[in-house]
Amino acid sequence: AVLVGRRARSRRKWRRAVEVLREFEEGCVTSIGRLRQVVDAMAVEMHAGLASDGGSKLKMLLSFIDSLPNGNEIGTYYALDLGGTNFRVLRVQLGGRGSMILSRQVECRPIPQELMNGTSEGLFHFIAVTLKQFVEQQEDDDSEKKPDEKKVLGFTFSFPVRQMSVSSGILIKWTKGFSVEDAVGKDVARCLEEAMTKAGLNMRVAALVNDTVGTLALGHYYDEDTVAAVIFGTGTNACYVERTDAIIKCQGLLTNSGGMVVNMEWGNFWSSHLPRTSYDIALDEESPNCNDQGFEKMISGMYLGDIARRVLYRMAQESDIFGDGAYNLSMCFILRTPLMAAMHEDDSPDLREVGRILTESLQIPDVSLKARRLVVRVCDVVTRRAARLAAAGIVGILKKIGRDGSGGVASGRTKGRPRRTVVAIEGGLYANYSMFREYLNEAVAEILGEEVAQNVVIRVTEDGSGIGAALLAATYSSNR
Ligand code: BGC
Ligand code: MG
Repeated sequence: AVLVGRRARSRRKWRRAVEVLREFEEGCVTSIGRLRQVVDAMAVEMHAGLASDGGSKLKMLLSFIDSLPNGNEIGTYYALDLGGTNFRVLRVQLGGRGSMILSRQVECRPIPQELMNGTSEGLFHFIAVTLKQFVEQQEDDDSEKKPDEKKVLGFTFSFPVRQMSVSSGILIKWTKGFSVEDAVGKDVARCLEEAMTKAGLNMRVAALVNDTVGTLALGHYYDEDTVAAVIFGTGTNACYVERTDAIIKCQGLLTNSGGMVVNMEWGNFWSSHLPRTSYDIALDEESPNCNDQGFEKMISGMYLGDIARRVLYRMAQESDIFGDGAYNLSMCFILRTPLMAAMHEDDSPDLREVGRILTESLQIPDVSLKARRLVVRVCDVVTRRAARLAAAGIVGILKKIGRDGSGGVASGRTKGRPRRTVVAIEGGLYANYSMFREYLNEAVAEILGEEVAQNVVIRVTEDGSGIGAALLAATYSSNR
């Protein structure tokens, strides 16, 4: 009788764990109808953000980039890419028409945690010194060095910046766990130039760009049908080419091309149509930037693992499927998204990899196969929702620029023939997490319908946020 009672109890507990999953799944529905509402909301918010400053949670920031690289760029340029998990310095040699990128050297460094939460002086000093070492090492390897020449840098700074020009801009706020408070409100290009001068580095910032803008630049360099770029990395964001007359908040804005790249800062997008659960609310409340970056917190690499962790922790509290190790699941960010991806993509019949990660990385040993299957299901729900919402965001942009095939004046057709549209994509979440990528691609096709989707190309660029900044430095270095 004791045994029977215990079994019944354990069955009941097991059922609770499954219920937690069900409830979560229900909270995460991304039916095609729901996605269409998100598409519409994105396009509406884009209009609102272009109409007036503060008109929308989408800031729709001007980049002052009105012409994108086309292959004619020539010379040696440097780039610095700050804003993700790592920071990178690059040197790119451009050969002009026909020869394109002759060579590139890249160095990647993790950013010490204390610098992410310290002072702007400390952060920029560290960057300038690292850059200087890189430059010196490159010049040692280079026979035709001209040591006294002022070098030209493209600075990729992947946070919301209010630009005054192509090469200057004020930090609006930090995201993605950075919080160097005294930098907010400062011109980050000047901060960097001051630090470079102090470090004895003869270099100027010719272009200050968001990572999305760098990615768009590289995408366009290779394929002139590229009109938008999206980042799915630690954070998420998109930019695209807008007609200047549609940028109502900047009346009289004139550019040679009639267009300008707009940095949407879509990480901060919000709509009541987004399927939000109690786990998302708790994650937001415990974050340093509560009420900000709502879309980003449902989509990007910094957060997906932690959403899954929260659901698993709930299961652990309601049942005993994770045994004694469950306590570890109470620790924020212990389940990082790359590990989550590895568990999600474990295709061994006995989910060996899931078991290994639970044991080695989360210190939860001896999880039954049945429970490991639940873990995979949780990862799937989190990532499927993220990818499908991201897809809706992309289609929202296409809708705004008339490339979604929905008719009207700019229906995406010229002289009856559909127009090819390329969206450049970058970031580890898309590049390394194949389930995310597959769900996203599938949802874009599902929303657009097959016929329209045929003309929409989603193309991964490599290192666009770095190389693209060097290309833009080349394009704009004669303008100062
Ligand atoms: C930032 C954006 C950036 C994106 C991807 C977001 O948190 O606000 O400026 O483009 O992350 O790096
Ligand atoms: Mg990056």
